[in-house]
Amino acid sequence: MKVGVLGGGQLGQMLAEAGRRLGIGLRFLAPDAESPAGRRAELVVAQYDNEAALTHFIDGLDVVTYEFENIPIAAVRSLAERTVVRPSVEALETAQDRANEKACFETLGIPTPRWAAAGTLREARAGLELVGIPAMLKTRRHGYDGKGQAVIRERADVERGWVTVSGAPSVVESLVSFTRELSIIAARSVAGDIAFYPLVENHHSEGILRFSLAPAPNVSESVQKRAREYAGKIMEHLGYVGVMAIEFFEVPDGLLANEMAPRVHNSGHWSIEGADTSQFENHLRAVTGMELGSTEMHGVCGMVNVIGQEPDVARLREIPDVHVHMYGKAPAPRRKLGHITVTADDLDGVRRAVAQVRAVLARK
Ligand code: AMP
Repeated sequence: MKVGVLGGGQLGQMLAEAGRRLGIGLRFLAPDAESPAGRRAELVVAQYDNEAALTHFIDGLDVVTYEFENIPIAAVRSLAERTVVRPSVEALETAQDRANEKACFETLGIPTPRWAAAGTLREARAGLELVGIPAMLKTRRHGYDGKGQAVIRERADVERGWVTVSGAPSVVESLVSFTRELSIIAARSVAGDIAFYPLVENHHSEGILRFSLAPAPNVSESVQKRAREYAGKIMEHLGYVGVMAIEFFEVPDGLLANEMAPRVHNSGHWSIEGADTSQFENHLRAVTGMELGSTEMHGVCGMVNVIGQEPDVARLREIPDVHVHMYGKAPAPRRKLGHITVTADDLDGVRRAVAQVRAVLARK
């Protein structure tokens, strides 16, 4: 079995590690020769829309998947004409565009923040009247880790916001005063079986995920059930095969869907140590037509992202029950360089270990 993966970042690196354990070979396609996944598996270095490179890339592959959603859709469509692509082109196309994504949620009766599409500054102003203030302006495409986003606290901010999004097609959405952010990760197999990981609590700052706690503490049974129901509906609607993440805002009367990722997700990294089967293994199991593995988790996990600066790895490793994953990327502001998972029997144990990890990361 050989799986092709579009994209070559740390998600690919961890997919390759899971592939090795499953006896599945991976081949990556990414434009950057320094892509982290290239440290673990074969890497074809080319632009995604280089037809000759795509032909070379798929030679001998059983299935193609992706670990990055901003792949030109025409390239993925061209691959789907020649080989099996999972998750489907339709799923990728929906997730690449915030307006399509929100429309998909709405079709399925999944609540979202109030929103309006804005192709021009005039439409952004009109959208603002519809969703109210405060609001957020976000580019429909290519936004990640808080890029291409502007908060609008008063009407006059919309002009500045429009500059921040570079006048690109955008959405205006209400700024939600959420209780907390939660995400669910689920996997769907070719046979249509779905396995869910428990809801995870996520902490972002400046639009970047900093910390995840799994399972999210104090989640009511109805919220857990609703998250599963929403994830199941989306996956079935899209005929989805693979792992998907859905990010939610928790509000007093339930969940509002923010966005979905048609791939393995940063808020599921804890599953490498914390679950019977990691999200990476389950993604490979799904796309290769295998049965899904158990998503049962034991104890509690905390996951801290290492962002911007190289940490003191030796000191991190001295902390008990700490698992250090560094991706081999050059440090740069706001760049995810690695993550650290702590495992413990209970929440207090996780909190203690996370405090130690944070102290090392802060170079105290
Ligand atoms: P996104 O790229 O949509 O995941 O946004 C990144 C982060 O910005 C989210 O995880 C939230 O912390 C924050 N954010 C995005 N949209 C909203 C919103 N409508 N209301 C409040 N916070 C938001």
